[in-house]
Amino acid sequence: MTQGSPTSTASNGQQPSPVRSIRLQLWLPLTLALVGLLTILTLSYLEHQHYQQELRRFTEHTAHRQLLETRRAVETALRRSDGSGLDAVLSELGLHPTVHFAALVDDAGKVLAATRFAWKHQHASDVIPDYPQALPTEHVTLDLQLDTLHLRTLSPIAIPLQTGQIRSHRQGTLLIDYDLTSLAASAAQHTYKQILLFGSLSILAVLVLLLLGWRFMLRPIRALQATIATIGQGQLDITAPLKGEGELMELSDALVQTAGALRSSQAALARSEAQLRQLSDASQEAIFFHHAGTILQVNRTAQELLGYSASELVGRNIFDLVTPDYRPAIERRAASGVQGIWEVAFYHRDGSQIIAEVNARQHLVDGQPVRVIAARDIRPRLAAEAKIRQLAHFDALTGLPNRRQLLDYVTAELQQVQEQPGRRAALAALNLDNFKAINDSLGMAVGDAALQSLAKRLSSTLPQHQTLARIHGDTFALFITQLSGSLEAASAQAGRSIEAVLGTIAQPLQVRGHTLHLSAGAGVVMIPNDSKDPPELLREAETAMHQSKAAGDNRVRFFAHALQEAASARLQLRNDLKTALHIAPPAPQELLLHYQPQMNAQGQLHGVEALVRWQHPSRGLIPPGAFIAEAESSGLIVPLGNWVLQEAAQALRRWQDAHAWAQPLSMAINVSPRQFREPDFVDRVRTTLEQLGLNDLSLELELTESVVADNLAATLEKMQQLRQYGVRFALDDFGTGYSSLSYLKRLPIDTLKIDRSFVIDIDAPANEEGKRPAVLIEAIITMAHQLNMQVLAEGVETPAQRDYLRRAHCDIFQGYFFSKPLPEGALCAWVNSIPASVTQ
Ligand code: C2E
Ligand code: CA
Ligand code: CA
Repeated sequence: MTQGSPTSTASNGQQPSPVRSIRLQLWLPLTLALVGLLTILTLSYLEHQHYQQELRRFTEHTAHRQLLETRRAVETALRRSDGSGLDAVLSELGLHPTVHFAALVDDAGKVLAATRFAWKHQHASDVIPDYPQALPTEHVTLDLQLDTLHLRTLSPIAIPLQTGQIRSHRQGTLLIDYDLTSLAASAAQHTYKQILLFGSLSILAVLVLLLLGWRFMLRPIRALQATIATIGQGQLDITAPLKGEGELMELSDALVQTAGALRSSQAALARSEAQLRQLSDASQEAIFFHHAGTILQVNRTAQELLGYSASELVGRNIFDLVTPDYRPAIERRAASGVQGIWEVAFYHRDGSQIIAEVNARQHLVDGQPVRVIAARDIRPRLAAEAKIRQLAHFDALTGLPNRRQLLDYVTAELQQVQEQPGRRAALAALNLDNFKAINDSLGMAVGDAALQSLAKRLSSTLPQHQTLARIHGDTFALFITQLSGSLEAASAQAGRSIEAVLGTIAQPLQVRGHTLHLSAGAGVVMIPNDSKDPPELLREAETAMHQSKAAGDNRVRFFAHALQEAASARLQLRNDLKTALHIAPPAPQELLLHYQPQMNAQGQLHGVEALVRWQHPSRGLIPPGAFIAEAESSGLIVPLGNWVLQEAAQALRRWQDAHAWAQPLSMAINVSPRQFREPDFVDRVRTTLEQLGLNDLSLELELTESVVADNLAATLEKMQQLRQYGVRFALDDFGTGYSSLSYLKRLPIDTLKIDRSFVIDIDAPANEEGKRPAVLIEAIITMAHQLNMQVLAEGVETPAQRDYLRRAHCDIFQGYFFSKPLPEGALCAWVNSIPASVTQ
């Protein structure tokens, strides 16, 4: 038995050629019986040969000798004159058991003497059976007939004749006939004895062999079979099935070793399976494995998510757990093997719906497609997003829609107006007169309370189709829809509504024991109008409002007259900006950059944000808010942005060459959507980096949600290209747009800049739910960290805000509390004073 060969060929990856096997139980006894039979047959054949030899020997020796002796004795008896003794010779011969008969016949055929007296003097052919016609003359004839077991010996014999004196002799024949049956019988008996002896010996041998075969072959094989079956059932804790030695024992040892090896590999498998299960149970995602819908496996989070135990889930159809509105799409994707991330609503055991984001992957297991579904409950995130949106769009103090929300309404209305000709609306801006005086004399708290009660009073008297919003400070907006008729009619109707509101404002207001007499000025713009841009419309309404206030007549001013004026002012600004951008470098620069520090939580300088300023020859230093919008709409933002990029990068290079603190500094640069969309933007950034030899990660581009929302695929591609050059990205003004975090998380954004309006909320009073709206900041920070983004808070002005943000694990801080944006020289001086002024 070659124990090693099957395993070694198997491990070579070759199939061992099959070896023939037979059923020992059948073939062992059969073979033994056959051997026994063959032995007996051989034996009988040999015995038969021997018997024939015996006969031949009898014929050639015994019978021949007897014939010759008898002839001599007969001749002796015949020589005696009276021939006495002849009968005695033959009688004696008759005593031999094998002699059938014997006779002496003379030449005339007469029997002279015979073993049977009755034949004497009879004619031989009458009495002697088969008496031959031709008789031998000189030879002894032996005629053995084996079939009748007859032997006849014939010999010529001279019979003396005494006729008177003359002695002559005549020819006689001596015949002895043997019946060999008795000899055959004894031989047969001998054979029979032999066969009996050998037959019994063979049967005994067969039995012994069978016993041995059963005891030492079949029984061990049975035991091995039983052990193999036990192993087959997965029970690997076996004892050696055999004792002793031999090939089967080697097989038994091999079996025990195999079981041992299997046991340890099974234990290893169980260990790794347990680890895998722990790992998957530890996952915050619910994991399902399913094949064609049938759930194969789930982790603990999946059980917790749906409220079922693992045994209830396994075997169930996963599609039955999906709500009908998602089910067809999910089934389709599963059937076509699509992989990806999407949203699904599951039914919880209690019937409630769980909205989850699932990541579906497909693998082949044993040739079958198995889908791995990782689901994450996004209800908290959706709720937080809804809350963020709510707070981002409603004013925390008065609960009125804020500027953002108002602009949404206007956008929606513009859409309607476009679709329904003849539909008209009006947008009014209202600003309280001398409100600053109330804040200054009675305190901010009274000012806030006055705004709150005024808002309440105005909202309660507001008719249908009119919306009041608080744009900022003491400026409100009234949005009137569903106006109809000619422009004049609609304007008159709007004017009346606004005057009614002004009338309500003019009614005395009781606030904390003070009676306030308020008044306001209003400007209004009609929709449709030349302008299709909601912020532009609001600006126009405000322009008209400022004119009304300047006139001081408390009348409602319509924008129409101001239109031309403002347009020409914008034109002027645009031309000036164009000139500013085309001034050759050696000439005095009108554009310049200020840099605002960004601090980390340890109070160290993390980076700076480059903010553009315009040193206008006649109007003085203009903040970006006054010209960026115009630059955007005229396209001048592209050369402007390019200049900022170049200038900011050069500044960083200068500082890094001169100051140790600038080595790890990050330079944040604002990029407008239009600039980002320029085809050569990526190349421009790359050449700037290469020319200046700036380190990786030293530039951080600030994008707004509008860039991102515009064309996700193209934006993503550009961002990925830029990332290869070590450029990082920040999302500016987060919270003011609509993009959900789940949408943004597909983009490689490093930093989330929480908009200043959220930071202001930190100091705001608790709202009616008793919650500080600032808790939202915590939600944003937590979510951003989950998405691997760091969070920067903008517009940090007070220590309270800084402390709150620090507790909420905000990473980076920027705002007047640390420093206003500074020109280059002032910044370097400020950096040297940090330890004393800021860190504590
Ligand atoms: P932004 O990107 O959100 O920049 C922050 C603005 O908030 C800056 O105004 C900054 O001076 C101001 N700020 C910083 N800390 C505080 C604070 O504690 N309190 C208050 N009240 N304000 C603070 P700035 O410089 O007037 O810039 C206004 C906007 O103009 C920027 O908003 C940005 O959107 C745009 N802008 C500025 N420079 C560039 C530029 O180079 N390219 C482009 N495309 N846009 C620019
Ligand atoms: Ca910015
Ligand atoms: Ca910002």
